Amino acid sequence: TQVSTAEFVKSSTCTEDCPSDGLPEFALVGRSNVGKSSLLNSLVRRKRLALTSKKPGKTQCINHFKINGSWYLVDLPGYGYASAPQELRINWNEFTKEYFLKRETLVSVFLLIDASIPAKKIDFEYASWLGQNQIPMTLIFTKCDKRKKKKNGGKRPEENVEDFQNSIRKYFSSVPPWIMTSSVTHLGRDEILLHIAQLRNY
Ligand code: GDP
Repeated sequence: TQVSTAEFVKSSTCTEDCPSDGLPEFALVGRSNVGKSSLLNSLVRRKRLALTSKKPGKTQCINHFKINGSWYLVDLPGYGYASAPQELRINWNEFTKEYFLKRETLVSVFLLIDASIPAKKIDFEYASWLGQNQIPMTLIFTKCDKRKKKKNGGKRPEENVEDFQNSIRKYFSSVPPWIMTSSVTHLGRDEILLHIAQLRNY
């Protein structure tokens, strides 16, 4: 379950443009600033792999990274820029939605949730949309190394995780698998890779 090779393959602006070699894929999505690029780099043990997808013009694309020549990690656009009023509604690029609904090789969506703060309304909206559309999902809680701070709601990451799970339970027939991570301590890195290996072997 180690990453030995990771290569950027392509940026696509629609599902039809995505790689057509049929390899299984796992898509990372979350609020901007949730720690998505840091997690991607932690998973592949690189400092800068994900930078490709941070280049202007590429952040609104579907970015495919081929791992060990046999599966893909997919970087999707972040949602809910903190300052925008859209934070309170689903502001989803049409192609992202289409990707979730139509991409046949998609094994699981990894929904990233920042565990260092209470989840935002838009996080619940995303989780419920995925649940209602029965898109297989794994919850990835990020920044679990951070200590509780009063200005962040005064709760520990474990408490924020529990609150989030309790709030989304109603949208799912069974609670989605979840993993606590930190790109600073690399907590959860092996667990994610093991989880991916297990899902690929189904
Ligand atoms: P993205 O916008 O989702 O790609 O988020 P980034 O990976 O760029 O991270 C956003 C900010 O959160 C940066 O300042 C990171 O240093 C910080 N960050 C990301 N992951 C972690 C983590 O696991 N722990 C801590 N303490 N900070 C993190």
